[in-house]
Amino acid sequence: MTRFESFKAFDLSQGMLDVLEKKGFFKPTPIQIHVIPLLMKGDRDVIGQAQTGTGKTAAFGIPIIEKLTGNTGSIQALVLTPTRELALQVSEELESLKGDKSIKIVPLYGGQAIRNQLKILSSGVDIVVGTPGRIIDHLEKGNIELDSISYLVLDEADEMLNMGFIEDVKKIFRSTNESKQMLLFSATMPTPILKLAKKHMRNHDFVSVSQDDIIAEFTDQVYLELTEEQKFEALCRLIDINDGFYGLVFCNTKSDTIDISQRLSERGYAADALNGDLTQDQREGILKKFKIKRLNILVATDVAARGIDIVELTHVINYSLPQDAESYIHRIGRTGRAGKQGTAITFVTPADSRRFESFVRAANADVRKETIPSAKEVISTRTKNFKHDIGQMIKAGEYHDFLKMADALLDRQQPSAVVASLLKYYFQDTLKEEHYPEPDVGGLKIDKGKIRLFIATGEYEGMTPEKMPAFLSRESGINELELETVEVFSKFSFITVPKNQADMLLKRFADMRKRNRPFVELAMNSTVRENRKK
Ligand code: ADP
Ligand code: MG
Repeated sequence: MTRFESFKAFDLSQGMLDVLEKKGFFKPTPIQIHVIPLLMKGDRDVIGQAQTGTGKTAAFGIPIIEKLTGNTGSIQALVLTPTRELALQVSEELESLKGDKSIKIVPLYGGQAIRNQLKILSSGVDIVVGTPGRIIDHLEKGNIELDSISYLVLDEADEMLNMGFIEDVKKIFRSTNESKQMLLFSATMPTPILKLAKKHMRNHDFVSVSQDDIIAEFTDQVYLELTEEQKFEALCRLIDINDGFYGLVFCNTKSDTIDISQRLSERGYAADALNGDLTQDQREGILKKFKIKRLNILVATDVAARGIDIVELTHVINYSLPQDAESYIHRIGRTGRAGKQGTAITFVTPADSRRFESFVRAANADVRKETIPSAKEVISTRTKNFKHDIGQMIKAGEYHDFLKMADALLDRQQPSAVVASLLKYYFQDTLKEEHYPEPDVGGLKIDKGKIRLFIATGEYEGMTPEKMPAFLSRESGINELELETVEVFSKFSFITVPKNQADMLLKRFADMRKRNRPFVELAMNSTVRENRKK
């Protein structure tokens, strides 16, 4: 497959290149890579197959607009679409592609006042985009003539078939001139469509872009080798190191989606879980928040993620390895849509590694191995990104509504003290290395959720294992502490608590110190191993 990195590789006019740049089309999609040169060069018919959302409209729209001269007084191109929504959508996309060219494009569909349509038609149009029924109406009434067209496009042909329009389409075919170029686009190619093409199309080129091609072209595939226990910390670091992270995190079970999204929320991320237990209303609520980016992380099962159509996802994370190669391909195909580059990151535990290799073979993919970024790396990247973002904000002048407040703050204080306080307020403790605890790399299986804490009080102050739970609850305000092993020594004690409670205790006691050290802190070897507990 030839790789065209930019639209400049095609024989397009400067006007068109400008339009594409303005539209934010920086790279052609795979179907465009194949179809545009065919249509720019030759006059053969073309059948193009590619999944929905892969830019088929522009694949035919760009060359047709380039080739048409405009102002000929007769219809030069007819695009047939199955629904009025699509007719409107396609005509809008064509409209946005025409730039300064004087080409008149009109959508014709049922439900629109015929009189208005007539007025437009009589003024001379170049491209008609319409539904079969309405086109036949106009043909029968003699409002349009299709006997000297250069292009006939059958868009979303499989939908056309599903909706029972094939007979109408054939009827329209018969009213058109022989010498036109015929183009057919569809997400799937059922036999009746292929038959129709064979019967009505001349020598044609068949272009099919599979899901695999699309992924190979637009999705950077990465994997990390790690243990189950390292996954959560690795996830947090990856999110933090990728400025503007907007992604799906895939798990295999509902309870994992809840567990991970909760742990992410506790650590301050805008994350939520999407699974089969949600009501339709809850699901829609979460999806809406994700769409408007109030949430930037969705933790989902395969089933729950079905039907999410968001084009600009930056990442797909396989937190757990999917069941089979097909789900792997399906999951990573969620990113890298519509010509936007995306990254798929798969977490591979030692137990997963053989299965993962088979997926990679099945997907025929280039997969790159990376390692968990170190705490230092994450912090320095975040700092760099932050400086960059602030620089951009200053350049763009996006701070004016705060100038007054800024002046007030600076009135009595040192500028560096003010800025440092703002930074502290914004980052809190998240730029410290402790914010990124070293995920345990030992081979021993760690009892996931349990943490051992050091408490700076002991027997000398009347503490006993029995008194410890009530004491900690009272001091921290946390009810129902689940203390497991409580060991009380003369001047200090150790307790073992579930991870989330450990986090809360550390937070609540953050300001309390004794003999110059924190009153509550992580014990020297704070991760609790199963073999010790037993
Ligand atoms: P399809 O007909 O294959 O389902 P569309 O033509 O409707 O897909 O395109 C889907 C979306 O992708 C549209 O919003 C379109 O503007 C956008 N798009 C198409 N080509 C590109 C491109 N090269 N770069 C970026 N976005 C594109
Ligand atoms: Mg389409």
